[in-house]
Amino acid sequence: MPHYKYLIVGGGMTGDAAVQGIRDVDPEGAIGLVGAEPHRPYDRPPLSKALWKGKPVDSVWRKTDHRGVELHLGRRIRHLDVALRRATDDAGTSYTWERLLLATGGSPRRLPFGGDDIVYFRTLDDYTRLRGLADRGQRFAVLGGGFIGSEIAAALAMNHKDVVMLFPGRGVGAHLFPDDLSQFLNAFYRERGVDVRPGEAAAGLERGPDGQATVVSRGGGRFAVDGVVAGIGIAPNTELAQAAALSVENGIVVNERLQTTHPAVYAAGDVAAFPNPALGKRIRVEHEDNANTMGRAAGRAMAGAGQAYDHLPLFYSDLFELGYEAVGDLDSRLEMVADWKDPFREGVVYYLEGGRVRGVLLWNTWGQVDAARRLIAEPGPFRSQDLAGRLPERT
Ligand SMILES: Cc1cc2nc3c(=O)[nH]c(=O)nc-3n(C[C@H](O)[C@H](O)[C@H](O)COP(=O)(O)OP(=O)(O)OC[C@H]3O[C@@H](n4cnc5c(N)ncnc54)[C@H](O)[C@@H]3O)c2cc1C
Repeated sequence: MPHYKYLIVGGGMTGDAAVQGIRDVDPEGAIGLVGAEPHRPYDRPPLSKALWKGKPVDSVWRKTDHRGVELHLGRRIRHLDVALRRATDDAGTSYTWERLLLATGGSPRRLPFGGDDIVYFRTLDDYTRLRGLADRGQRFAVLGGGFIGSEIAAALAMNHKDVVMLFPGRGVGAHLFPDDLSQFLNAFYRERGVDVRPGEAAAGLERGPDGQATVVSRGGGRFAVDGVVAGIGIAPNTELAQAAALSVENGIVVNERLQTTHPAVYAAGDVAAFPNPALGKRIRVEHEDNANTMGRAAGRAMAGAGQAYDHLPLFYSDLFELGYEAVGDLDSRLEMVADWKDPFREGVVYYLEGGRVRGVLLWNTWGQVDAARRLIAEPGPFRSQDLAGRLPERT
């Protein structure tokens, strides 16, 4: 039975960052990492961006295997016994540990139709499968108008594919952005050849006798396609934690040192719900900066050098030639104050609640993330008229 001082469950970006965090503090302690995917850890963001712009697939690999860690890949931990400090995988191998990290991330939400004909875009294998479909076929349906849907639709269109984008909301990124910006994005995507269908959710996928796939929308629209890809959100992989009676509330609950309700078990990344002092509440963040920073912080904490994790993660996305960085709550149900230097091309959107700035969208506005974090930390109260011109900060 392998025994590790540190056992990491999950071979994503968080798992890799945790290895780095442990090695920052403890160069020797034995580390085991069990990952369900057959691949060693890699970066996910390029799967929907850089790899479609000509970057080689080999650019995604992280250097986990250079850091003195035993990788058990293609193995899924099925059972956790926290009292005995033992984890057992789907091949029946048990691992014992002194400190454990749950970095199990999230799994794509699935639609009630279509089965495996729909690519739920999350992993390197999903990228490889979609790339294969794009090499052979021309017409694609993208289901979802959020982060993944908007990036994949742009990636396919930039590769000269015919793309129809179906989603129930009013516009691209409607849950994040002010309505006028979201409407602008509908038009912007259409100008770049994407057939954007707001308010038109997919309701079924049919296969004709010749194998032809047709997506059927709720309004009765029919779209013959060579491939269907969906990005409709993820659900955190909390089953192991739940079965081990650790506290779970929309994610595995951790304290500021990233410990779960069992002090030898930590959680980080997409799966973890952590207290954030700037926002004054517990949050769960599904973004790269959080995976990297929180994973590293968890590794350091496991090795005995933990500090309170008080980082407010940034996130970013690319939409054709537009791009943004953001921090805090980007929720279009909040009061939003837009301050455009060039409408919908360059500017800042502030998200306000109870007189405080809860989130900042830096639209084609760079180098302002720390200034946005400082603004969110300020107690206010702010009125909308106080915010124009606050960012970018002049240096
Ligand atoms: C296509 C794509 C593009 C993205 N682009 C951006 C971006 O532009 N900007 C940004 O900020 N963020 C982006 N993100 C989000 C970012 O990549 C995620 O926040 C990050 O990957 C989360 O890492 P994680 O390790 O916590 O979880 P995951 O990436 O979900 O990794 C968890 C790993 O654990 C494994 N696992 C789960 N359960 C078990 C188990 N029981 N036993 C063993 N292994 C298990 C899973 O198979 C998986 O490999 C993107 C995500 C995707 C999918």
